[in-house]
Amino acid sequence: MNRRQFLKSAFFTTIGVVVLSACKKVTTQTKKLIEKVSIKKFNNLDISAIGFGLMRLPQKDGEPDIAKTQAMVDYAMEHGINYYDTAWFYHSGKSELAAGEVLKKYPRNSYYLADKMPLRILKDKSEVIHVFEEQLKKCQVDYFDFYLAHNINKREWKILKDCNVYEQLLEKKKEGKIKYLGFSIHDTPELLEEVVKTYKWDFVQLPINPIDWKTVDAKRQYEIATKAGLPIVVMNPLKGGQLSTLSEKAVEILKTANPNVSPSSWSLRYSASLPNVFVVLSGMTELEHVMDNVKTFTNFKPLTENEQKFLESAIAVYNSSGAISCTYCQYCTGCPVGIDIPKNFLMYNQYKATDRKDRFVLAYESIKKENRADKCINCGICKNKCPQQLDIPNILKDIAILYKNLSSL
Ligand code: SF4
Ligand code: SF4
Repeated sequence: MNRRQFLKSAFFTTIGVVVLSACKKVTTQTKKLIEKVSIKKFNNLDISAIGFGLMRLPQKDGEPDIAKTQAMVDYAMEHGINYYDTAWFYHSGKSELAAGEVLKKYPRNSYYLADKMPLRILKDKSEVIHVFEEQLKKCQVDYFDFYLAHNINKREWKILKDCNVYEQLLEKKKEGKIKYLGFSIHDTPELLEEVVKTYKWDFVQLPINPIDWKTVDAKRQYEIATKAGLPIVVMNPLKGGQLSTLSEKAVEILKTANPNVSPSSWSLRYSASLPNVFVVLSGMTELEHVMDNVKTFTNFKPLTENEQKFLESAIAVYNSSGAISCTYCQYCTGCPVGIDIPKNFLMYNQYKATDRKDRFVLAYESIKKENRADKCINCGICKNKCPQQLDIPNILKDIAILYKNLSSL
């Protein structure tokens, strides 16, 4: 299917519903117009085309800031965002607790909650149900609308089979504690094919964005899932935030096309324009992100062919800057010598986006000495943890050399 065909077949069933909502229950009723985001269909469900990813919440004292998260979720709910996605690993287990806290005031049938089985921590099959029940308690719910085997790669795939994860989750589905059973995957199209063929799933969660579409097989994975009849939840549509900042030159191109929208909105629309995608997750950290996403998805329109060309030009310019394709997912944490890998990579990418050598030197020196790239002992422990399959030790080596060269100028 070419770009024109897929744009034509984009299947938004409702385009921005404007509803009247009573502001106050007083005798003289004051009413305000509240615009709601567009919805897509998943089976017979109306799901907001943009979902709230609870993996990058605002923080206070190292934990999710519940007051700020509540304000964001209230705004999201008010504007029709009804899909919320959490996981055991997000915020070191605190995301599920935060989800429970901020959603408990809403009727259970007014939102859809997705959670995930943390395959990586399972030591034997007896732990599966224990973990699942614990998640229900943390989220303060009796069931999950969407439940996924989290982050399947070769290692996790073996765990899933060895621990009978699918069979046990299927039992939970029969009990009504899981409405729809799926999986998320960060691996090769070949493994995706195998997972799809081995078990019967209801949906799949894939990383899709305009960079990965061409460079890391996202297009092929989209096609495999579509051929298998699996509706898709998009994760990582902004490639860990890279597509919300891009480089100055890339942003200039997008601003030429439309000065009134954010760089993020382009990439979110890109993924949401794919016809087999029913929800695009955005990890929101500030109320402004929620507001911008509501703006993007109210009266949603797929990217036009002309807009597509602008986006492709901007991505080409950004890619030529040499940024690392790190999504800052934090899966590589736990380095034995304490290196903060995502922080080093973020700082490097910011340098690539601006080409400011002085800022790079300052940013590198602002990282604690023990967390800096030059402390890497090349043990390789982090390499297998990276879903982007980045050669972390070698990239760190390059960053350390770059600092050495630039700081001596
Ligand atoms: S290879 Fe380097 S960054 Fe990775 S775990 Fe070992 S010391 Fe840490
Ligand atoms: S290096 Fe890989 S695992 Fe670590 S934050 Fe980046 S993408 Fe995630």
